[in-house]
Amino acid sequence: MTDRPLLTEVCATTAPGDFGDHGSSDGVTVAMPRVHKFGGTSVDGAERFKALAAIIRDQEDRSVVVVSAMARVSDELSRLVDAATSEGDEPEGPAVASTAVAPDPSASLAALKQRHLDALHEIVEEEAARASLAARIDVIFDGAAQLLGEGPGGEAERFGDQLMAVGEDLAVELAVAALQAEGIPAAVLDAREIVWTNADFGAAVPDFESIRKLVPSNILPLVEEGRVPVVQGFIGSEAGGATTTLGRGGSDFTATLLGAALGSPEVVLWTDVDGIHSADPSLVRESRVVSDVGSEEAVELSYFGARVVHPAAAKHAIASNLPLRIKNSFAPERPGTLIHSDRGAAGAFAAVAHKTNVALIRVRAFPTALAYGFLARVFGVLGRHAVPVDLVSTSHSSTAFTVDRDEDLSAVRRALSVFSEVEVLRDVATVTVVGRGMLKEPGMDALVFWAVEKTPVYLISQASDVSISFVVDEAEAPELVRRLHLSLIELREGAREEKEGDRR
Ligand code: ADP
Ligand code: ASP
Ligand code: MG
Repeated sequence: MTDRPLLTEVCATTAPGDFGDHGSSDGVTVAMPRVHKFGGTSVDGAERFKALAAIIRDQEDRSVVVVSAMARVSDELSRLVDAATSEGDEPEGPAVASTAVAPDPSASLAALKQRHLDALHEIVEEEAARASLAARIDVIFDGAAQLLGEGPGGEAERFGDQLMAVGEDLAVELAVAALQAEGIPAAVLDAREIVWTNADFGAAVPDFESIRKLVPSNILPLVEEGRVPVVQGFIGSEAGGATTTLGRGGSDFTATLLGAALGSPEVVLWTDVDGIHSADPSLVRESRVVSDVGSEEAVELSYFGARVVHPAAAKHAIASNLPLRIKNSFAPERPGTLIHSDRGAAGAFAAVAHKTNVALIRVRAFPTALAYGFLARVFGVLGRHAVPVDLVSTSHSSTAFTVDRDEDLSAVRRALSVFSEVEVLRDVATVTVVGRGMLKEPGMDALVFWAVEKTPVYLISQASDVSISFVVDEAEAPELVRRLHLSLIELREGAREEKEGDRR
């Protein structure tokens, strides 16, 4: 086919994951495949799967595909997991009429199955191929029904991951079918074979060392045969072979794990927006697409709520020196956003993000408490209970900090109450402005505080020159995002353009 060395030969002479930028061995440059990850809305039905196939068809480089579950499938599976694992639980708090109706598992599985079969019928025309894939879909749903029938059996997290994986297991089958229908040879490569993790079900930690070896040795032979490997995002397996998941939104992380282990030139995250915007475009219509973003800023943005890229993926891409590109699968010709570490002196970047799944804990030392050692005691409690803290603000006898709202805070609260008054506010959100350099510009503080003026703020935190965060009532967050965007991005841009106009 070509006079290039086989990728598998390069593998045999080079430590896996050590191919450099483009996989070079003995001075010969080998183009490693690019990893393309398609999120839920990019695989939401037959048309989207066909668009995926067209995108891969048009690539010049060889490709590896990672797919998430179809849009809303993981949410539905998560509701089934919650219903199955909370059966028999006492309801929390005062008895109030609940509006949340527990899903009927069989009806819910039947509806999910129908969605996938509908997509299959539109993607695959040939009868025999259709029947064989329909049979595979049956097997996956039979497995899900059996799992639900058996129930969690005291292992809720383990049970949850087995069921959550169904969404991605189905999506890879449809993606392969769509690629083949487009004339592109493709094969499912089960993520459980290559993404090994520990056994922290629900938020498993990858075993990077094993992944660095398993990914090239399993993927490259397929690529060499001219096939496109299609891998489930989000899932992996622990040492005992049970399925694990990397946490919600974790398919981005799968893509960077694969890209880093292969030494890919780039990982592309295909989604439903044109790239990273200066604010969530579903909230701020005036937001702009940013063409390139420094890795540190991307991590900060994703960490503080811009879900367009998962924080673990952004962090891992930086650590692996792996460029990440965000592109719109609905408009593949648009350039998207490049996240890379050598953004250097490119123009000032600014964006606003918000995160809602947050609780604020306020702790005030009892007057009788010792004047020193208060903070050490507070953070000692948090450390012992393994509760990660996001934002912190302190004075000599009180401190306030945010944590993930889903954490079980009752034990922490009890331990802190031994030496302090404790208040937990659950209906809060964080709003964060990210922008290295920009926050140091003269006059910036005034613009930030003009935007915040009308919003009651519980906490302000600025630990670096990359970002500044505010904790506010959750209901106030969207308005604060819009005002910050208006003052820091729209008005500043307008003023700059006016100045340039005057100069001309
Ligand atoms: P996918 O299913 O493709 O992984 P996600 O829903 O996880 O997609 O992420 C894409 C969404 O992220 C967008 O639809 C957008 O509403 C949201 N988003 C939040 N903040 C930003 C931002 N700053 N820039 C772009 N999108 C953002
Ligand atoms: N399907 C999974 C989720 O919805 C993983 C992902 O989308 O990245 O969380
Ligand atoms: Mg996502």
